[in-house]
Amino acid sequence: PSVNDYLRHHIRTVPDWPAPGVQFRDITPLLQNPKVFRVLIDAFVHRYMDRRPDVVAGLDARGFILGAVVAYELNVGFVPIRKKGKLPFTTVEETYELEYGSATVELHTDAVRAGDRVLLIDDLIATGGTMMAGKKLLEKLGAVVIEGAAIVDLPELGGSARLRASGLPLFTLVDYA
Ligand code: IMP
Repeated sequence: PSVNDYLRHHIRTVPDWPAPGVQFRDITPLLQNPKVFRVLIDAFVHRYMDRRPDVVAGLDARGFILGAVVAYELNVGFVPIRKKGKLPFTTVEETYELEYGSATVELHTDAVRAGDRVLLIDDLIATGGTMMAGKKLLEKLGAVVIEGAAIVDLPELGGSARLRASGLPLFTLVDYA
């Protein structure tokens, strides 16, 4: 099978979690199986090894797992974008709307430098709000987000289209229509 179908086959769908009617796409089986984990990470590494970013930024929390390994393989640094209240040094922050309420994410002010080319990574794009907030944080510090990467896109929610319309190229491995 293609890499994409192979990965899709190992994603677990959990019905009615965390709320009734939601089909949660659970990527933990991809990490648990060492062969699948390697195929997954290599797909990202191959994408960026000839156009290496200066920094990889990972979105809380599964973006940390993916981003850290991809950064290590590309031999570039990794920086975390965290939910508010977790980072100890001075930060920039960005608040965005959720279906119910809002969320705030933070980034250390010295995480990137003006002009840095950054790869932004998370496990999944739904409404795109999380990745858009990450992009805005990086841009507040003058960095350039060269691409947003995720394992899964849920295109029906419109997030990936909105992100692309904002000028952010995206790379995803598995779509669920
Ligand atoms: P968005 O901000 O609406 O695009 O939601 C994406 C964020 O929510 C990511 O950080 C994901 O980890 C998380 N998320 C939303 N839905 C799912 C899902 O079905 N599986 C795994 N993570 C999800």
